[in-house]
Amino acid sequence: MRSGRFWVPLLGALLCAGCAPVSRLPVLSEDEIEAEKRIEQLAHIRKYYDELHRVDTVAFRIRTANRADCRGWESAQIGLFAVTPQSLPRRYRSYSREALNLTWARPTVISVVEGSPAAEAGIVAGDEIIALDGELISLTGTAGWMAGWLKHHGPRPLQANVRRDGVDLTVTITPVMGCAIPINYLTADEANAYTTEDKIVIYSGIVALAKTDAQLAHVIGHELAHANLGHLEKKLVNKAVGWVSGTMIDVGILAGGLSTGGAFGKEFTKAGERAFSVGFEREADYVGAYYAVRAGYDLEGVEEFWRAMGLAHPDSIRLAATHPIAPVRFLQMQKVAAEIADKKRRNLPLVPDLKVVDAPSEPAPPSPGGS
Ligand SMILES: [Zn+2]
Repeated sequence: MRSGRFWVPLLGALLCAGCAPVSRLPVLSEDEIEAEKRIEQLAHIRKYYDELHRVDTVAFRIRTANRADCRGWESAQIGLFAVTPQSLPRRYRSYSREALNLTWARPTVISVVEGSPAAEAGIVAGDEIIALDGELISLTGTAGWMAGWLKHHGPRPLQANVRRDGVDLTVTITPVMGCAIPINYLTADEANAYTTEDKIVIYSGIVALAKTDAQLAHVIGHELAHANLGHLEKKLVNKAVGWVSGTMIDVGILAGGLSTGGAFGKEFTKAGERAFSVGFEREADYVGAYYAVRAGYDLEGVEEFWRAMGLAHPDSIRLAATHPIAPVRFLQMQKVAAEIADKKRRNLPLVPDLKVVDAPSEPAPPSPGGS
């Protein structure tokens, strides 16, 4: 014990001596660091908006080509994205003005989808867009305001007041109808995308894995298919069925004098949520592939996306919980591409074969009477 007490402070002193760097490092001034910080921030926001333009372009094509499948949830669209510094997230505001040549006074167009109504009307990135049919465009929440205005206005032609290089112009834009579901594009490393009841969320991590626009179209088509096929609602129903089944067992056991603390309710809720999940994912891949083709993308090589996913996230090669493993998705995509190519050759309509999806991999919860 005595020797132990002796060694503790000595060891501490030795470790501290090893804590500090021993090399003489170059001196960096605060100004130099601030300047470099600015360069990286400007580069980041420009990169973000380049990527957003790519996502917006593919999404516009997917939404307009597949609007018949959107269960009436449609809106008028013109294919441009305009912002003000004050309409961007707070953390981007200080440098977005310089990075994107924005002004506080009027929204600036930073993305125009090629071939869209805005492009046909001659609008280009860098134009300031001031009013739609004489109504001033909001300087805050600009993109949402424009989407709402167009939804209300519908597909009738509209007059847009535009300022280009200080010259005021009025252009006529004829919107087209497309699926209304908004898409949020987020900077996040995770290779993820998901759909909620009111939006599609795409992470930059999954966009980086999509080497071609056709692969990105497959990703966005997959999410739109989830929304159109009502997968979210179906999952909620399965979850509720699981909860009811499990809770009835809990109540039955409690009536017998033994409390489960709701364990069956919780477990069956989880099982219900997972039921058909893999099948829904495969169905979204399948229908999403049709959406991509209808939007004009070629599926040749699109399956490579799933090999890239497997390489970037090796767990996806062998582990399946809610999603199919990457090899299944690779192989299925090859077969879907062949199926669609065959339909094209035979001049058949590009409509997914709607048949029963795979049986659930998880056993269905037992009926309440079975306990
Ligand atoms: Zn999915």
